[in-house]
Amino acid sequence: MTPHKKLDWGSVLFMSIYHGLLVVLTPFYFLSGSFDWRALVIGICLYILAGLGITAGYHRFFAHKTYQAHPVIEIFYLLLGCLWFAGSAATWSYDHRIHHAKTDTDEDPYSIKKWFFYAHMGWFLLQRPAMDPTKIPDIWASKWVRFQHNHYRFIALNLNLIIVFSVAMMTGWFSSFYFCFLAWMFVFHHSMFFINSLAHTWGSKTYAKELTAVDNFILAFLTFWEGYHNYHHAFPNDYRNGISWYHFDPTKWLIWTLEKLHLAKNLRSKDGLIVRANLIQKDLKMVIETLKQKLPDIQAREKIQAWFERIAQDFEQKVDELHRQLHIYRELLADKKSEALARLKKGECLSIQKELQKSWKLWKEMVDRFDHQYVLIEH
Ligand SMILES: [Zn+2]
Ligand SMILES: [Zn+2]
Repeated sequence: MTPHKKLDWGSVLFMSIYHGLLVVLTPFYFLSGSFDWRALVIGICLYILAGLGITAGYHRFFAHKTYQAHPVIEIFYLLLGCLWFAGSAATWSYDHRIHHAKTDTDEDPYSIKKWFFYAHMGWFLLQRPAMDPTKIPDIWASKWVRFQHNHYRFIALNLNLIIVFSVAMMTGWFSSFYFCFLAWMFVFHHSMFFINSLAHTWGSKTYAKELTAVDNFILAFLTFWEGYHNYHHAFPNDYRNGISWYHFDPTKWLIWTLEKLHLAKNLRSKDGLIVRANLIQKDLKMVIETLKQKLPDIQAREKIQAWFERIAQDFEQKVDELHRQLHIYRELLADKKSEALARLKKGECLSIQKELQKSWKLWKEMVDRFDHQYVLIEH
Protein backbone atom coordinates (compact mmCIF):
# COMPACT_ATOMS: atom_id res chain seq x y z
CA MET A 1 0.00 0.00 0.00
CA THR A 2 1.38 3.40 -0.96
CA PRO A 3 1.27 5.98 1.89
CA HIS A 4 -1.73 7.85 0.46
CA LYS A 5 -3.74 4.61 0.25
CA LYS A 6 -3.78 4.20 4.05
CA LEU A 7 -7.02 4.90 5.90
CA ASP A 8 -7.49 8.38 7.29
CA TRP A 9 -8.73 7.34 10.73
CA GLY A 10 -10.03 10.82 11.57
CA SER A 11 -12.39 10.78 8.56
CA VAL A 12 -13.28 7.09 9.05
CA LEU A 13 -14.29 7.63 12.69
CA PHE A 14 -16.16 10.86 11.97
CA MET A 15 -18.15 9.32 9.09
CA SER A 16 -18.80 6.01 10.89
CA ILE A 17 -19.91 7.60 14.15
CA TYR A 18 -22.28 10.12 12.66
CA HIS A 19 -23.75 7.68 10.11
CA GLY A 20 -24.20 5.14 12.92
CA LEU A 21 -25.83 7.70 15.21
CA LEU A 22 -28.19 8.72 12.43
CA VAL A 23 -29.33 5.12 11.87
CA VAL A 24 -29.81 4.45 15.58
CA LEU A 25 -31.40 7.77 16.53
CA THR A 26 -33.80 8.22 13.60
CA PRO A 27 -36.55 5.85 14.87
CA PHE A 28 -36.13 7.13 18.44
CA TYR A 29 -36.38 10.72 17.30
CA PHE A 30 -39.60 10.31 15.36
CA LEU A 31 -41.21 7.94 17.90
CA SER A 32 -40.32 10.10 20.91
CA GLY A 33 -42.48 13.00 19.70
CA SER A 34 -39.51 15.38 19.75
CA PHE A 35 -40.01 16.52 16.14
CA ASP A 36 -39.72 20.28 15.75
CA TRP A 37 -40.39 22.12 12.48
CA ARG A 38 -38.08 24.97 13.40
CA ALA A 39 -35.10 22.64 13.70
CA LEU A 40 -36.00 21.09 10.34
CA VAL A 41 -36.19 24.51 8.65
CA ILE A 42 -32.84 25.58 10.16
CA GLY A 43 -31.33 22.26 9.02
CA ILE A 44 -32.53 22.95 5.45
CA CYS A 45 -31.07 26.48 5.63
CA LEU A 46 -27.72 25.05 6.76
CA TYR A 47 -27.83 22.62 3.83
CA ILE A 48 -28.43 25.45 1.33
CA LEU A 49 -25.85 27.77 2.88
CA ALA A 50 -23.17 25.08 3.02
CA GLY A 51 -24.01 24.19 -0.58
CA LEU A 52 -23.51 27.74 -1.79
CA GLY A 53 -20.30 27.92 0.21
CA ILE A 54 -19.00 24.96 -1.78
CA THR A 55 -20.42 25.59 -5.26
CA ALA A 56 -20.11 29.38 -5.45
CA GLY A 57 -17.21 29.59 -2.99
CA TYR A 58 -14.84 26.63 -2.88
CA HIS A 59 -15.58 25.48 -6.42
CA ARG A 60 -16.26 28.40 -8.76
CA PHE A 61 -14.46 31.12 -6.78
CA PHE A 62 -11.40 29.55 -5.11
CA ALA A 63 -10.66 26.51 -7.29
CA HIS A 64 -11.53 27.91 -10.72
CA LYS A 65 -11.36 31.70 -10.24
CA THR A 66 -14.35 32.18 -12.53
CA TYR A 67 -15.04 35.60 -10.96
CA GLN A 68 -13.67 38.04 -8.42
CA ALA A 69 -15.50 38.49 -5.12
CA HIS A 70 -15.56 41.20 -2.47
CA PRO A 71 -13.45 40.24 0.62
CA VAL A 72 -16.63 40.07 2.73
CA ILE A 73 -18.01 37.40 0.38
CA GLU A 74 -14.67 35.56 0.43
CA ILE A 75 -14.70 35.42 4.25
CA PHE A 76 -18.33 34.33 4.22
CA TYR A 77 -17.48 31.45 1.82
CA LEU A 78 -14.59 30.40 4.06
CA LEU A 79 -16.89 30.31 7.07
CA LEU A 80 -19.52 28.28 5.20
CA GLY A 81 -16.78 25.88 4.07
CA CYS A 82 -16.19 24.99 7.74
CA LEU A 83 -19.75 23.77 8.19
CA TRP A 84 -19.33 20.32 6.64
CA PHE A 85 -15.88 19.15 7.85
CA ALA A 86 -14.53 18.40 4.36
CA GLY A 87 -11.33 20.37 4.53
CA SER A 88 -10.07 23.91 4.02
CA ALA A 89 -10.60 25.90 0.82
CA ALA A 90 -6.89 25.43 0.02
CA THR A 91 -6.97 21.62 0.44
CA TRP A 92 -10.25 21.24 -1.42
CA SER A 93 -9.13 23.45 -4.31
CA TYR A 94 -5.75 21.71 -4.49
CA ASP A 95 -7.46 18.31 -4.85
CA HIS A 96 -10.04 19.69 -7.24
CA ARG A 97 -7.49 21.22 -9.59
CA ILE A 98 -5.74 17.85 -9.77
CA HIS A 99 -9.14 16.26 -10.52
CA HIS A 100 -9.48 18.56 -13.55
CA ALA A 101 -5.89 18.27 -14.73
CA LYS A 102 -5.76 14.45 -14.35
CA THR A 103 -9.41 13.45 -14.85
CA ASP A 104 -9.93 9.66 -15.03
CA THR A 105 -6.24 8.88 -14.52
CA ASP A 106 -4.59 7.22 -11.54
CA GLU A 107 -3.61 10.63 -10.18
CA ASP A 108 -7.23 11.86 -10.17
CA PRO A 109 -8.03 12.11 -6.41
CA TYR A 110 -11.58 10.82 -7.02
CA SER A 111 -11.21 8.85 -10.23
CA ILE A 112 -14.40 7.06 -11.27
CA LYS A 113 -12.23 4.53 -13.13
CA LYS A 114 -11.17 3.02 -9.81
CA TRP A 115 -14.54 2.17 -8.32
CA PHE A 116 -17.92 3.92 -7.97
CA PHE A 117 -17.68 3.85 -4.16
CA TYR A 118 -14.09 5.10 -4.31
CA ALA A 119 -15.14 8.14 -6.40
CA HIS A 120 -18.17 8.67 -4.15
CA MET A 121 -16.64 8.61 -0.67
CA GLY A 122 -13.81 6.06 -0.60
CA TRP A 123 -11.27 8.78 -1.42
CA PHE A 124 -12.53 10.78 1.57
CA LEU A 125 -11.75 7.90 3.94
CA LEU A 126 -8.17 7.48 2.70
CA GLN A 127 -5.08 9.54 3.40
CA ARG A 128 -4.42 11.93 0.54
CA PRO A 129 -1.12 13.51 -0.52
CA ALA A 130 -0.55 16.67 1.51
CA MET A 131 -1.63 19.97 0.01
CA ASP A 132 1.29 21.84 -1.53
CA PRO A 133 0.75 25.64 -1.27
CA THR A 134 3.33 26.32 -3.99
CA LYS A 135 1.00 24.61 -6.50
CA ILE A 136 -1.87 26.99 -5.71
CA PRO A 137 -0.09 30.35 -5.25
CA ASP A 138 -3.11 32.38 -6.44
CA ILE A 139 -5.31 30.85 -3.71
CA TRP A 140 -2.64 30.74 -1.00
CA ALA A 141 -1.93 34.47 -1.51
CA SER A 142 -5.07 35.31 0.48
CA LYS A 143 -4.44 35.76 4.22
CA TRP A 144 -8.02 34.67 4.91
CA VAL A 145 -7.46 31.37 3.06
CA ARG A 146 -4.27 30.75 5.05
CA PHE A 147 -6.06 31.57 8.31
CA GLN A 148 -8.95 29.19 7.53
CA HIS A 149 -6.49 26.45 6.53
CA ASN A 150 -4.40 26.79 9.70
CA HIS A 151 -7.42 26.78 12.05
CA TYR A 152 -9.83 24.64 10.06
CA ARG A 153 -10.69 21.98 12.67
CA PHE A 154 -11.03 24.51 15.47
CA ILE A 155 -13.38 26.75 13.45
CA ALA A 156 -15.40 23.82 12.07
CA LEU A 157 -15.93 22.24 15.48
CA ASN A 158 -16.81 25.48 17.25
CA LEU A 159 -19.07 26.72 14.48
CA ASN A 160 -21.09 23.51 14.60
CA LEU A 161 -21.20 23.55 18.41
CA ILE A 162 -22.45 27.15 18.42
CA ILE A 163 -25.16 26.27 15.88
CA VAL A 164 -26.36 23.16 17.73
CA PHE A 165 -26.27 24.94 21.14
CA SER A 166 -28.11 28.01 19.85
CA VAL A 167 -30.85 26.03 18.12
CA ALA A 168 -31.16 23.75 21.15
CA MET A 169 -32.16 26.77 23.27
CA MET A 170 -35.19 27.11 21.02
CA THR A 171 -36.10 23.57 20.01
CA GLY A 172 -34.52 21.25 22.59
CA TRP A 173 -31.35 19.17 22.31
CA PHE A 174 -32.66 16.18 20.42
CA SER A 175 -34.20 18.19 17.53
CA SER A 176 -31.22 20.48 17.28
CA PHE A 177 -28.65 17.67 17.22
CA TYR A 178 -30.76 15.59 14.81
CA PHE A 179 -31.61 18.23 12.18
CA CYS A 180 -28.86 20.81 12.66
CA PHE A 181 -26.03 18.31 12.67
CA LEU A 182 -26.77 14.67 11.78
CA ALA A 183 -29.49 14.86 9.12
CA TRP A 184 -28.37 17.84 7.04
CA MET A 185 -24.75 16.70 7.21
CA PHE A 186 -25.72 13.27 5.85
CA VAL A 187 -27.81 14.60 2.96
CA PHE A 188 -25.20 17.22 2.18
CA HIS A 189 -22.18 14.92 2.20
CA HIS A 190 -23.81 12.48 -0.19
CA SER A 191 -25.06 15.27 -2.50
CA MET A 192 -21.52 16.56 -2.77
CA PHE A 193 -20.08 13.07 -3.19
CA PHE A 194 -22.52 12.41 -6.06
CA ILE A 195 -20.65 15.06 -8.10
CA ASN A 196 -17.63 12.78 -8.23
CA SER A 197 -19.57 9.53 -8.61
CA LEU A 198 -22.95 9.93 -10.38
CA ALA A 199 -21.91 13.05 -12.34
CA HIS A 200 -19.12 10.92 -13.82
CA THR A 201 -21.43 8.00 -14.63
CA TRP A 202 -25.00 8.72 -15.65
CA GLY A 203 -25.90 11.29 -18.34
CA SER A 204 -24.97 12.77 -21.70
CA LYS A 205 -21.61 13.98 -23.00
CA THR A 206 -22.17 16.95 -25.24
CA TYR A 207 -19.00 18.95 -24.73
CA ALA A 208 -16.18 16.53 -23.94
CA LYS A 209 -16.93 13.03 -25.18
CA GLU A 210 -13.48 11.80 -24.16
CA LEU A 211 -14.20 12.31 -20.42
CA THR A 212 -16.38 10.38 -17.98
CA ALA A 213 -18.02 13.63 -16.77
CA VAL A 214 -21.68 13.91 -17.82
CA ASP A 215 -24.54 16.39 -18.02
CA ASN A 216 -27.76 15.36 -16.37
CA PHE A 217 -30.79 17.51 -15.54
CA ILE A 218 -31.89 15.22 -12.69
CA LEU A 219 -28.38 15.21 -11.26
CA ALA A 220 -28.51 19.00 -11.04
CA PHE A 221 -30.95 18.44 -8.15
CA LEU A 222 -29.04 15.54 -6.59
CA THR A 223 -25.57 17.05 -6.84
CA PHE A 224 -26.24 20.39 -5.32
CA TRP A 225 -26.76 22.13 -8.69
CA GLU A 226 -23.57 20.87 -10.30
CA GLY A 227 -25.33 18.48 -12.68
CA TYR A 228 -23.97 19.92 -15.93
CA HIS A 229 -20.61 18.39 -15.20
CA ASN A 230 -19.59 17.57 -18.77
CA TYR A 231 -19.83 21.25 -19.72
CA HIS A 232 -17.97 22.14 -16.55
CA HIS A 233 -15.08 19.80 -17.36
CA ALA A 234 -14.93 21.13 -20.93
CA PHE A 235 -15.01 24.80 -19.82
CA PRO A 236 -14.02 24.90 -16.13
CA ASN A 237 -13.35 28.65 -16.19
CA ASP A 238 -16.97 29.50 -16.96
CA TYR A 239 -18.86 30.77 -13.90
CA ARG A 240 -21.88 28.80 -15.11
CA ASN A 241 -22.45 25.05 -15.15
CA GLY A 242 -25.76 25.05 -16.98
CA ILE A 243 -25.32 27.55 -19.80
CA SER A 244 -28.93 27.91 -20.97
CA TRP A 245 -31.12 30.25 -18.93
CA TYR A 246 -33.46 27.36 -18.06
CA HIS A 247 -30.68 25.04 -16.81
CA PHE A 248 -31.13 24.54 -13.07
CA ASP A 249 -28.00 26.18 -11.71
CA PRO A 250 -28.81 28.45 -8.71
CA THR A 251 -25.08 29.05 -8.16
CA LYS A 252 -24.79 30.96 -11.44
CA TRP A 253 -27.90 32.97 -10.50
CA LEU A 254 -26.33 33.79 -7.12
CA ILE A 255 -23.03 34.89 -8.72
CA TRP A 256 -24.94 36.98 -11.28
CA THR A 257 -26.92 38.61 -8.43
CA LEU A 258 -23.70 39.31 -6.49
CA GLU A 259 -22.38 41.09 -9.57
CA LYS A 260 -25.50 43.28 -9.73
CA LEU A 261 -24.95 44.12 -6.03
CA HIS A 262 -21.31 45.05 -6.79
CA LEU A 263 -20.08 42.19 -4.59
CA ALA A 264 -18.61 40.25 -7.53
CA LYS A 265 -17.00 41.28 -10.81
CA ASN A 266 -15.25 40.01 -13.94
CA LEU A 267 -17.53 36.99 -14.38
CA ARG A 268 -15.94 34.68 -16.94
CA SER A 269 -18.12 32.88 -19.47
CA LYS A 270 -17.85 31.34 -22.93
CA ASP A 271 -19.86 32.67 -25.87
CA GLY A 272 -22.44 29.91 -26.46
CA LEU A 273 -22.05 30.06 -30.25
CA ILE A 274 -18.27 29.77 -30.08
CA VAL A 275 -18.73 26.77 -27.76
CA ARG A 276 -21.02 25.13 -30.34
CA ALA A 277 -18.73 25.96 -33.27
CA ASN A 278 -15.83 24.32 -31.36
CA LEU A 279 -17.94 21.28 -30.63
CA ILE A 280 -18.88 20.91 -34.27
CA GLN A 281 -15.19 20.95 -35.22
CA LYS A 282 -14.47 18.32 -32.52
CA ASP A 283 -17.35 16.14 -33.76
CA LEU A 284 -16.25 16.57 -37.37
CA LYS A 285 -12.76 15.29 -36.57
CA MET A 286 -14.27 12.21 -34.93
CA VAL A 287 -16.63 11.61 -37.89
CA ILE A 288 -13.73 11.79 -40.38
CA GLU A 289 -11.59 9.46 -38.26
CA THR A 290 -14.46 7.00 -37.87
CA LEU A 291 -15.19 7.02 -41.60
CA LYS A 292 -11.52 6.40 -42.37
CA GLN A 293 -11.42 3.37 -40.10
CA LYS A 294 -14.87 1.88 -40.58
CA LEU A 295 -16.10 2.61 -44.11
CA PRO A 296 -13.94 1.03 -46.82
CA ASP A 297 -16.13 2.32 -49.71
CA ILE A 298 -14.20 5.50 -50.65
CA GLN A 299 -17.02 7.07 -52.67
CA ALA A 300 -19.58 6.64 -49.88
CA ARG A 301 -17.04 7.88 -47.34
CA GLU A 302 -16.31 11.07 -49.29
CA LYS A 303 -20.00 11.73 -49.80
CA ILE A 304 -20.78 11.47 -46.08
CA GLN A 305 -17.70 13.49 -45.14
CA ALA A 306 -18.59 16.27 -47.61
CA TRP A 307 -22.10 16.42 -46.20
CA PHE A 308 -20.87 16.87 -42.62
CA GLU A 309 -18.25 19.41 -43.74
CA ARG A 310 -20.88 21.46 -45.55
CA ILE A 311 -23.08 21.79 -42.45
CA ALA A 312 -20.05 22.58 -40.25
CA GLN A 313 -18.88 25.28 -42.66
CA ASP A 314 -22.37 26.72 -42.96
CA PHE A 315 -22.63 26.94 -39.15
CA GLU A 316 -19.31 28.73 -38.87
CA GLN A 317 -20.25 31.22 -41.61
CA LYS A 318 -23.55 31.96 -39.90
CA VAL A 319 -21.78 32.57 -36.56
CA ASP A 320 -19.42 35.04 -38.27
CA GLU A 321 -22.36 36.72 -39.98
CA LEU A 322 -24.26 37.03 -36.70
CA HIS A 323 -21.28 38.61 -34.95
CA ARG A 324 -20.91 41.09 -37.85
CA GLN A 325 -24.61 42.03 -37.75
CA LEU A 326 -24.58 42.32 -33.95
CA HIS A 327 -21.67 44.73 -34.18
CA ILE A 328 -23.61 46.92 -36.68
CA TYR A 329 -26.73 46.68 -34.49
CA ARG A 330 -24.81 47.95 -31.43
CA GLU A 331 -23.40 50.87 -33.44
CA LEU A 332 -26.87 51.81 -34.69
CA LEU A 333 -28.26 51.56 -31.19
CA ALA A 334 -25.63 53.94 -29.86
CA ASP A 335 -26.73 56.55 -32.42
CA LYS A 336 -30.17 57.81 -31.32
CA LYS A 337 -31.09 58.91 -34.88
CA SER A 338 -30.84 55.36 -36.17
CA GLU A 339 -33.37 53.70 -33.84
CA ALA A 340 -35.59 52.48 -36.69
CA LEU A 341 -32.61 50.98 -38.50
CA ALA A 342 -31.47 49.35 -35.26
CA ARG A 343 -34.88 47.67 -34.90
CA LEU A 344 -34.58 46.28 -38.43
CA LYS A 345 -31.07 45.02 -37.71
CA LYS A 346 -32.29 43.35 -34.51
CA GLY A 347 -34.87 41.44 -36.56
CA GLU A 348 -32.11 40.30 -38.92
CA CYS A 349 -29.98 39.08 -35.99
CA LEU A 350 -32.89 37.17 -34.52
CA SER A 351 -33.56 35.36 -37.79
CA ILE A 352 -29.85 34.34 -38.06
CA GLN A 353 -30.04 33.09 -34.47
CA LYS A 354 -33.08 30.98 -35.35
CA GLU A 355 -31.26 29.50 -38.35
CA LEU A 356 -28.28 28.69 -36.13
CA GLN A 357 -30.57 26.98 -33.66
CA LYS A 358 -31.96 24.82 -36.49
CA SER A 359 -28.49 24.01 -37.85
CA TRP A 360 -27.30 23.01 -34.38
CA LYS A 361 -30.29 20.70 -33.88
CA LEU A 362 -29.71 19.13 -37.28
CA TRP A 363 -26.01 18.64 -36.52
CA LYS A 364 -26.69 16.92 -33.20
CA GLU A 365 -29.29 14.63 -34.77
CA MET A 366 -26.96 13.65 -37.59
CA VAL A 367 -23.98 13.03 -35.29
CA ASP A 368 -26.18 10.92 -32.97
CA ARG A 369 -27.45 8.90 -35.94
CA PHE A 370 -23.92 8.48 -37.26
CA ASP A 371 -22.72 7.42 -33.80
CA HIS A 372 -25.56 4.91 -33.58
CA GLN A 373 -24.60 3.39 -36.95
CA TYR A 374 -20.79 3.48 -36.86
CA VAL A 375 -19.92 4.17 -33.17
CA LEU A 376 -17.78 7.28 -33.13
CA ILE A 377 -14.07 6.89 -32.51
CA GLU A 378 -13.10 9.34 -29.79
CA HIS A 379 -9.81 11.17 -29.77
ZN1 LIG B 1 -15.53 15.98 -12.17
ZN1 LIG C 1 -14.46 21.96 -11.16
